[in-house]
Amino acid sequence: MRQETLFISDLHLKASEPKSVQRFLSFLDNRASQAERLFILGDLFDAYLGDDDEGFPFGGVKKALKRLTDQGTLVYFQAGNRDFLVDQDFSHQTGVELLGDIAIIDLYGMPTLLMHGDLLCTDDLGYQNARIRVRTPEWRAYALGKPLWMRKLYARWYRFKSGLDKRGKTMEIMDVNQEAVMSALEDAEVYRLIHGHTHRPGIHTIHLPGGEAERLVLPEWGEKAWVWVYSAELRHQEPIGHPL
Ligand code: MN
Repeated sequence: MRQETLFISDLHLKASEPKSVQRFLSFLDNRASQAERLFILGDLFDAYLGDDDEGFPFGGVKKALKRLTDQGTLVYFQAGNRDFLVDQDFSHQTGVELLGDIAIIDLYGMPTLLMHGDLLCTDDLGYQNARIRVRTPEWRAYALGKPLWMRKLYARWYRFKSGLDKRGKTMEIMDVNQEAVMSALEDAEVYRLIHGHTHRPGIHTIHLPGGEAERLVLPEWGEKAWVWVYSAELRHQEPIGHPL
């Protein structure tokens, strides 16, 4: 097993795109199994309505994650805005460790802050207010108390509504807020942040009072898929599979 850590996010797996699901399963069985750690920083699924949904693609993904953790790769999952209902049953069935919304890890000697990224988009007040509402234990218990078919129906309506809401929002509003990025780094007392969510991959330098920090934004998986690979010596981006 290689001394390396992999980062992915924003795969948005869904039943209507089986090739994308197949690509991920093959990634887990092959590339990921060679690494010591894999971090999935949210929006693995395009919609996740509860650990009791065993349909495609959830059942197969859980089995593949279990194979991966059984053979020794440590796998961590941080919730995205689309799959924040991933819960303890998922963790028990897969061996995947669930991280909080703000996680600090040691990346070969460099403390690194991990976030999905949606918390950094503070200019989108409508989204942030909705987020607060659905992240309470009360809302969670209420939603998960509904039968799965009802949650599916609700999710369909919500996607429609969210599509309409997005039309009125500028690209700036849906990107990270610089001050939110700086506070997150300063609160965590680290000089590196890795996140996804915005689908604007890149590496940015941030000037903090204590020195220069770095923000790495993971790419989403679309026609092409990428993984960021970190080791003690270097880091690089690797393509996954063939373009779909
Ligand atoms: Mn997201």
